[in-house]
Amino acid sequence: MQRITILGATGSIGVSTLDVLARHPEQYEVYALSAHSRVDELASQCRKYRPRRAVVGNAEAAAELSRLLAGLPVDVSYGEAALCEIASSPDTDTVMAAIVGAAGLPPALAAARAGKKILLANKEALVMSGQLFMDAVLEHKATLLPIDSEHNAIFQSLPGSYARDPAAAGVAKILLTASGGPFLTRAVETLEDVTPEEACKHPNWSMGRKISVDSATMMNKGLEVIEAHWLFGAPAELIEVVIHPQSVIHSMVSYTDGSVLAQLGNPDMRTPIAHALAFPERIASGVAQLDLTTMGALQFHKPDYARFPCLALAFDALRAGGTAPALLNAANEIAVEAFLERRIGFRDIDRVVRRVMDENPHGAAIDVAAVMVQDAQARRAARQLVAGIARS
Ligand code: NDP
Ligand code: MG
Repeated sequence: MQRITILGATGSIGVSTLDVLARHPEQYEVYALSAHSRVDELASQCRKYRPRRAVVGNAEAAAELSRLLAGLPVDVSYGEAALCEIASSPDTDTVMAAIVGAAGLPPALAAARAGKKILLANKEALVMSGQLFMDAVLEHKATLLPIDSEHNAIFQSLPGSYARDPAAAGVAKILLTASGGPFLTRAVETLEDVTPEEACKHPNWSMGRKISVDSATMMNKGLEVIEAHWLFGAPAELIEVVIHPQSVIHSMVSYTDGSVLAQLGNPDMRTPIAHALAFPERIASGVAQLDLTTMGALQFHKPDYARFPCLALAFDALRAGGTAPALLNAANEIAVEAFLERRIGFRDIDRVVRRVMDENPHGAAIDVAAVMVQDAQARRAARQLVAGIARS
């Protein structure tokens, strides 16, 4: 029996994870579930999956959840310390890190320091503090398995010996595929008028609102470039973004002998989730088998950086190093939230991120405290810029 903690159980990845677990009750047991504010959803999940612990965002939410679960043996708590506890408890083996944004970093790091098997969806944790996170994984002998579909595909396309001896693997390029999102062909001058509804309508994937907007700006691919850099120890020059609108190939590895290995599948996150849960074995995920004969043509082309300036900003942050990716991530989180609340326009997202990057010098990412100082600084700067745009 693998005992699982799901951080962010009520989100898109959390729900898909529970769906896969429910198919294999003899192999997996839910130890703990967390949500932030969607208490009703978490209460129904607790009734169905009977975790020992449930964690929410604050005291009011915890009181409400306790009321809804009266009579059930679920220990309810709240806040960051409780998230870190359920991520590092000796009673859990595997942690699905699926909180959205910087809030996911402390519990993901706690899981790494406790030597857990970590299924990492929360890419922001690696973007903010990649070196510190990877060091903690290594030092505490944690196991890190990527859930992001592209990184899971790359992981599947690399040899098992890669982590021990990357040089011997002969990797020439990591080809990170990108659908291009909903605005791949929309006239660039009309991007100013994009609404949150349009931005959240991804052509191939059903995801939470923040990552959906990131996919529309292609900041998501930028964050994934940084994520790939840390997961696979690959310099920026080794990582190439390839637009592939059909999202059938989830990413590829190109080798020095001319071979290219790819992982394909229907676009459904239950595939990478099941892969990481059962690794190195395979289990059923509920995803239909890919029928190549009905696929039609698969297309590939280079990204247009003028259409997607956020992608270039992320490459800049990766090359700058230190806390630059933390600045990028924090500014983006504030800008996306403001866009979703209709306080700024779609194109203001890249303007806010660029100005925060230009106007706030980054430092060395010596420890998590230093990263969090830059994160807070970037949030303050981004909020000021958003307020200025909203007034004008
Ligand atoms: P959702 O917005 O659907 O879910 C986010 C989850 O995190 C919810 O359970 C939410 O609780 C919780 N949460 C939100 N804010 C906080 C906070 N401040 N503190 C603690 N918990 C919080 O996101 P997704 O499932 O789409 O994405 C989760 C992560 O996975 C992201 O990092 C994303 O980039 C990554 N990812 C997602 C993919 C997808 O297909 N969805 C694909 C690849 C990566 P509540 O419900 O109460 O608000
Ligand atoms: Mg992805």
